[in-house]
Order: sequence, then C-alpha cells, then structure tokens
Amino acid sequence: MDNKAMYKLSYGLFVLSAKTGEKENGCITNTAIQVASDPNQISFAVNKANYTHDMVMDTKKCNLSVISEEADFELFKHFGFQSGRDVDKFAGYTKLDYAANGIPYITAGTNAFFSIDVRQAVDLGSHTLFIGEPSAMEVLSEAPSATYGYYQSSIKPKPEKPARSEGGKTVWRCKICGYEYVGETLPEDFICPICKHPASDFEKVG
Ligand code: FE
Repeated sequence: MDNKAMYKLSYGLFVLSAKTGEKENGCITNTAIQVASDPNQISFAVNKANYTHDMVMDTKKCNLSVISEEADFELFKHFGFQSGRDVDKFAGYTKLDYAANGIPYITAGTNAFFSIDVRQAVDLGSHTLFIGEPSAMEVLSEAPSATYGYYQSSIKPKPEKPARSEGGKTVWRCKICGYEYVGETLPEDFICPICKHPASDFEKVG
C-alpha cells in the first residue's frame, strides 16, 4: 500500500467559524464539499482537537468562508496555527463581516461564504463529519479558490535554508506549517505543536 496515494486527493481550503455565547472562533478545514443538491447539503470534517469543533457540535451553526488564491500565509497562521482555547482569534480582527446567523465570516483572502445549519454529525474517530444545509451564501470575490496544492506551492513560505543538521541528527519537517523536529525517529503518535497535524504529515529532510 503506497500511502503517497493520499496526496493525490485534491482539497479546497476554508475558514470554519462558530459562536457560542460571546465567544467567537474559527479554524482551517480542507474538507468542505457539496454532497447533495435536493436538498442542497454541504459536508465538512473537523478534527476533534479543534475548539471550533466543540462549538459547532454545541450550536449546530457555523459559517464556511472559502479561501481564495489571494489569501496570504498570515490567514493560515492566524486561524490554523493557534488554538481558540489559548487566544481570542477574533479580538481586533477586522477582515470580517457578520452573517444573518450572527456568526462572523472572513472577507479578505476569501471568495465566498456559506452559513450552515448542521443536521447530522457522524463520528469518524479523529474527526467529526458534519452535514448541513446552507441558510445563506454569497460570492465575495472572483479570485479562484485556493486548493491545498496551491497552498503548498504558492502560499506557504519556502524554508529559508536546508534543515539544521544539529550535529548530524535527522530532521523531520511538518509539510503543513514547516515546524522542524530533531531526532532519529519521529514518534508515530507525534502531533505538530504548531498546526496539530499528525506524524504522517512530516517528511524527513536534510
Ligand atoms: Fe505543523
């Protein structure tokens, strides 16, 4: 079995936002798709480690902002590489507007948004698959949607240097955010401390 086949799947990129009481939060997801047309239904999967996951599970309401090729790396760092448990991601954040459901959506580096009423939540282990119906949707820009491949090739900064050798030790680099782990073997259950992706998203470099 060649696990590299997984990299041939294509994905879009989205900011998933939710609100519980006064708390607003958002995270990056790559798995939103239309899964039915009558009624129109959209599914998206969210890692259970994300604070936004619990908020959507609680409220059954959220917005999906579609990330475009005009997005900068800051957008990914802001919503993807820190947790709403530690910081208020919407404090002072100005590139947003509010949908009729009262939840913010992102207006810069995005080309559309959807407000979703969640109807089903399917437990998939690491993730929950949410399925819902849009209660609102708007086009925000004509810029093309960013694919995960576009993020890797054109948005994520290239490493400035070859990986540090650290006295000849092996370096593993997170393919999502660039975090580097030094050690001969990367533990199978290792989770990237920056972007929370698993060991399978690391590559041996240097
Ligand atoms: Fe990472």
